[in-house]
Amino acid sequence: MSVDLLAIAAHPDDVEQTCGGTLIKMAETGYRTAVLDLTAGDMGTRGTPEQRLIESEVAAKQMLVAWRGNMHFPDARLQNDISARMSLAMKIRELKPRVVIIPYWQARHPDHYRAGELAYEACFLAGLKKLDDYTEPHRPTKVIYSSIYAPVTPSFVVDISAQFDRRMAALLSYRSQYANDADAAALFPQEQEIRERLAAIARYYGNLIGAKYGEPFVVKETMRVDDIVNMGVRSF
Ligand SMILES: [Zn+2]
Repeated sequence: MSVDLLAIAAHPDDVEQTCGGTLIKMAETGYRTAVLDLTAGDMGTRGTPEQRLIESEVAAKQMLVAWRGNMHFPDARLQNDISARMSLAMKIRELKPRVVIIPYWQARHPDHYRAGELAYEACFLAGLKKLDDYTEPHRPTKVIYSSIYAPVTPSFVVDISAQFDRRMAALLSYRSQYANDADAAALFPQEQEIRERLAAIARYYGNLIGAKYGEPFVVKETMRVDDIVNMGVRSF
């Protein structure tokens, strides 16, 4: 299998919040997209890992991804060790993504920043010829960091105005996490609160590029521009 775009994240329901709109938009453009979750969320307070995996499949359909998988690494104690890096590198060789989206390198949740670091190093390893004798080396050409929860200026923002509702539906597929019931209310923000919070965040980033809703990303390389007369975001 080979995909154009692969989003790697720590927990099922992370990509729905960080880059789901962009995944939908790229699938609509005709690219083959995929999601690889590193853990099944087995330390989560609500629901079981089995439930979350089923829900993540429903969400995958909403996001129009061609493939979604789970590494089943330990949740809440994700480690960037050699065995995790190797397993992930082998998966990257199998999926052959042209571009990867990974979590920004600073975050409150240790799994999130570790997922970014682990994914970056696995992408590097995946390109080494002598990693093993049986698989072809493959290294993505571009690493893009999803930065929605980091207090940093994005390198660019993707307009997801047309994809926002579908992304919201994808997130709300996680009924065990977000359903509106009495138990849930005590532990998790209810559906309406989630809708408002996600809309506010997406609105903020959309506003930066003159769109209604947006998703922010950071790249470490300088962005190249060939035509400065036709640039996207107006100054006035
Ligand atoms: Zn997470």
